[in-house]
Amino acid sequence: MSEEKKGRPSIGASSLRHVAILLILLFVIVYLVAVVASASDFFSHSADEGALLSLEGDLAAADREAERHFEALGAIAAQLAEADTKAEVDAVVKEYIGSEAFGDLRYYVGGSTYAPDGSLVLSTVPVLETLAAARTRGVSRVYFDSVVEMDCIAFYLPVAGSSYADGILSILPARNLLDMTAVRAEDCPAVALVAPDGKVLGAAYAETFDDAFGIRLDSFLDGFTGDVTANKAVMDALAVPDRCSIAVTALGGEAYRVATSPVGTLDGNAVLVSFRPVSTLIEGEMTFIRHIVVVLLIAVAAFVASLVYSFLYYRHSQKALSDATLYDAALNCPNAEHFRRHAAEVVYSERRQYGVMVLSLRRYHLLLETYGEARAGEALGGIVKVLEGLCSHGEGYAYAGEGKFLLLYHYRSEKNLKDRLRLFEALCNRSESLRAEGINLRFHIGVFLTGSGRRRTVPEMIECATMAAESAKGNVRLPYVLYTEEVNREIAQNERIEAQMEDSLKNGEFKLFLQPKYNARTDRVDSAEALVRWFDPQKGEYRFPAAFIGLFETNGFIVKLDQFIYLEVLRYFSAATEKGEPVVPISVNVSRVTAMSDDFLEFYVGNKKHYGIADGFLTLELTESFALENFDRIREIVDVLHKNGIRCSIDDFGSGYSSFNIIKHIPFDELKIDRIFLDNGIDRGRDDVIIRTVLDLARALNLSVVQEGVETEEMFHRVVDMGCEVIQGYYYAKAIPLEEYRLFLNTNTSIRYKAKVK
Ligand code: C2E
Ligand code: CA
Ligand code: CA
Repeated sequence: MSEEKKGRPSIGASSLRHVAILLILLFVIVYLVAVVASASDFFSHSADEGALLSLEGDLAAADREAERHFEALGAIAAQLAEADTKAEVDAVVKEYIGSEAFGDLRYYVGGSTYAPDGSLVLSTVPVLETLAAARTRGVSRVYFDSVVEMDCIAFYLPVAGSSYADGILSILPARNLLDMTAVRAEDCPAVALVAPDGKVLGAAYAETFDDAFGIRLDSFLDGFTGDVTANKAVMDALAVPDRCSIAVTALGGEAYRVATSPVGTLDGNAVLVSFRPVSTLIEGEMTFIRHIVVVLLIAVAAFVASLVYSFLYYRHSQKALSDATLYDAALNCPNAEHFRRHAAEVVYSERRQYGVMVLSLRRYHLLLETYGEARAGEALGGIVKVLEGLCSHGEGYAYAGEGKFLLLYHYRSEKNLKDRLRLFEALCNRSESLRAEGINLRFHIGVFLTGSGRRRTVPEMIECATMAAESAKGNVRLPYVLYTEEVNREIAQNERIEAQMEDSLKNGEFKLFLQPKYNARTDRVDSAEALVRWFDPQKGEYRFPAAFIGLFETNGFIVKLDQFIYLEVLRYFSAATEKGEPVVPISVNVSRVTAMSDDFLEFYVGNKKHYGIADGFLTLELTESFALENFDRIREIVDVLHKNGIRCSIDDFGSGYSSFNIIKHIPFDELKIDRIFLDNGIDRGRDDVIIRTVLDLARALNLSVVQEGVETEEMFHRVVDMGCEVIQGYYYAKAIPLEEYRLFLNTNTSIRYKAKVK
């Protein structure tokens, strides 16, 4: 079954992550290929080669410039093809006299050159004869033309088709040969067109290249570098029909590369010379290095990514394998290990605050014993459904066994937490069948808030929440207990108490105290309540029940303690009777845990018989909250106790929600009205109505009523005026040690009862 179908919260969206990683890998590879392809130019890139590479552009421009001359000349040659007589030829050529584009035009016929006006020109053009003989186009070397009286270059184009002219010549002044500004590329500081013998035909340079070129390249170089050897190498390069790059150092100290290349279209009769500082060429090298670094980094990243991917893939498959170890088989829901992993992913990585919670089902074992494993399992399944429905994104839950649930909750506020927990409990108990069976699912809840205190691991957080939940056991009314240092101290204190309790019981450090109850009408002692005190020999003082009863109920020691106090009461009765002392009935508190223990009735009834206590002298006080939870059990208890002459009292009456339900269903003998009704609370009138109603009801049902906690004269009059007879409280007496109590009864002549014990 897939995770989705089961509605399980997954541990991170691992499959999505795999797809993402694959895509990234793919992207990296494509990028890598692109970079390698674009960087390949740089593989053989040195400063010299950089200089030659950069020269290419200038050279192409120079060739284009030269080619333009041939093209223009070609147009004239085409016209001449039709001209078959000297007159015709003269007429065509004459049209172009004075054109700047062609300089001085001449035509060639059988070894002689003629000007456009048809006159013979005596000046000779080098290599012209060779070109004409080969009937091929070409340019001359730089020569001094005696007609133009300037250094010139001649372009020669053979004329095909004319039966008169052999070819056409354009004589250009050398310095007009090429437009050097059109030739110089922007990134080139200086470029010059030079005749192979070193004569400068033209140059263009950027402002930064401040030294102008003179008549000859060697004299320029002398002023530019002062390095004879390097300069000679440049001059030698002019004669080489191939490209060259020569290192020179300018007088200012900056390193240059001088690249030379014959201009192809000019048939090697002019050489292009470019000057480039090595720094701009090194720039190219730097870029190359950067590319290499990027490529390397990407290669490393790709390697790491593939490692991560295989690790994740491995983990994913491991996870699938260990699926069984992450889910509770019986409930088919995440288990504690799942929770720990999920929480570890969430609580640190996000900026939200989380509550790590332990929700421990109250009296889980009782549920198990009373209703059986199958029914308990169903109840747990219901809780799982509720948790599943409650969890939103990032939150999570698990079943940790033994009726314990873990919940990771996004903490917003205290109120929100309370509301959600209340809703949780309400939803857990919503089912009709639970109510019909009298099952009330309640939890003690411990909360650890992330971000509080020092940084903790998830197991530590769970441990803290568990401790908080433990301490919530003692207090039924709290919605949850938040882990704090105080809770921590309390836990340590509880541990100390647990270490001492058994020895204390053996050593007689638990003492029976008795608090007399009075009849307000007669002002006489009516009866008494047995209350335990724990003597601390180190401090020499008594500890009050509030400090240990809750804990003893949790750890079960309360059963022994209740039995001990009960036996103390019985032993007292027995001894007092033997001596003929006066006695009054005594109420003994019985904890819910004691009342639910296996041999409860056997022990209490059996020992009453064993000590020969008369009927009506013993009352067992059961708390209202317990009575509310266990109707059936309590009815059974009350029946058996009645049959054996033991009275039953509901303690703390009115503190619960449906107190009246109890007296309707169970034949108690006595009600003890909780002292909260006497607290001068906000609604005194309302409290009085309740007390009055309880008294009326008790009278109608023939129940005795005891008002607890009457401290002051004002309280006394208040309850007496309402018709309450039996009163327990500091107004009359506090709880006193047994010996004192005995003395008190023996010396107080107003005691109604004499020893009636059988
Ligand atoms: P409880 O059963 O409601 O007992 C009455 C408590 O109210 C006693 O507190 C008593 O000392 C106190 N009290 C009496 N008169 C007044 C008064 O006028 N004003 C105020 N403020 N308090 C008054 P104590 O002895 O501290 O016991 C507290 C609780 O501990 C008891 O409440 C009972 O639930 C539990 N407890 C005491 N002894 C035993 C025992 O042997 N077994 C069990 N299971 N629980 C016991
Ligand atoms: Ca009591
Ligand atoms: Ca009480």
